[in-house]
Amino acid sequence: MSQKANGQELQIEGNIGRNKVTENHTKFTQQLSDVLTLIPRDVNNKKIAQAIYTRQVVTIIGIKTTAARFLPVSHEGYSNETYVDKVDLLGKTRAEFIGRKLKGIERRAHMALFREMLESILNSRGQDVTGQEIETQVTWQAFFTDKFGKACTIPDGLCVACWNCSLFGGMEAGKGATFSRIRYFDTFSIEDAAECIQTDDSPEGMAIGNTVGEDLSVERGEASFHRYEYVKAGTRFPFITIIESPTLLDVAGYLAAVKLADQHGYGKYSANHGKFETQFLAVSTGYPLFSVLNLLTWLEDGALTNPQEKLHFEAAVGEPVTLFGAEIEAVRDTLSKQFTAYLKALEAPPGQTEGEKPKRSRKGK
Ligand SMILES: [Zn+2]
Repeated sequence: MSQKANGQELQIEGNIGRNKVTENHTKFTQQLSDVLTLIPRDVNNKKIAQAIYTRQVVTIIGIKTTAARFLPVSHEGYSNETYVDKVDLLGKTRAEFIGRKLKGIERRAHMALFREMLESILNSRGQDVTGQEIETQVTWQAFFTDKFGKACTIPDGLCVACWNCSLFGGMEAGKGATFSRIRYFDTFSIEDAAECIQTDDSPEGMAIGNTVGEDLSVERGEASFHRYEYVKAGTRFPFITIIESPTLLDVAGYLAAVKLADQHGYGKYSANHGKFETQFLAVSTGYPLFSVLNLLTWLEDGALTNPQEKLHFEAAVGEPVTLFGAEIEAVRDTLSKQFTAYLKALEAPPGQTEGEKPKRSRKGK
């Protein structure tokens, strides 16, 4: 075959590729809930996230690779020594990254992203939440107080009404609870501990750092140091996350929050450690027909080079739409448009949003 013929063929394939991205993206979006389901409803003059059950889900599959030292620690440990979580699984000792920790960090990243996008949009408009021209910067706190009843803070001051609370759930005394719509699973390193964890058994031994809250007036001795194990850079953790009754904003926001969390860091001492790189393998409107354990086995065997062949899904309703590669990027790219739609719906006068239940007459009670 001549080079020219090759070039033409690639050109045609490229065009088909782009059309397919658009077509799959449209089919994917059609299976998701409207952004209006994220608008809180009024209960006794208090805002609370709507409880929506559509039986629809979106599953996100990916691999997180440590870009620096990582300390997955879920136990108390000892006074000046820290050990990473480990578990014997499928013939190896593996570093364990529990779902609850993943969720905690990604929830905070999601909130940071939410506040940042909000302030950026409000301030670029030059109007405050009531439409008055602004002279000073509008804060997320003012907007949250107006729309959700309070400035939502994680974990002890949740508003139970905002987009973050709708997705991750929460409780507030005297107001009620909203269930989490996002499900996380524990995950484990593909690599064996002997390979991926720096321990006392390793030639270099455990790492040494200063203890937190160290008293500098005391002469530095053995006790003022802190010894810790860590997971080495380049260690891979496959993961599965499921979002229930998802909107496109939930999915795009999750994908962006994970990337933000990667830069902020996971685990103990995350200010300096726990940076990751995440590769998304698939995003589907179905439930996975495989588990994290299957992913570990496939990745060990190098059997996931073509995710389309292994990652199969099943939907509760209809046929699942599964996106790969560039199709996933296209979902993440919808974030700012979807977020703008969310803000617009929040600012609509009461009664104009679909989420607002018609007021019942007193006679009926
Ligand atoms: Zn909230």
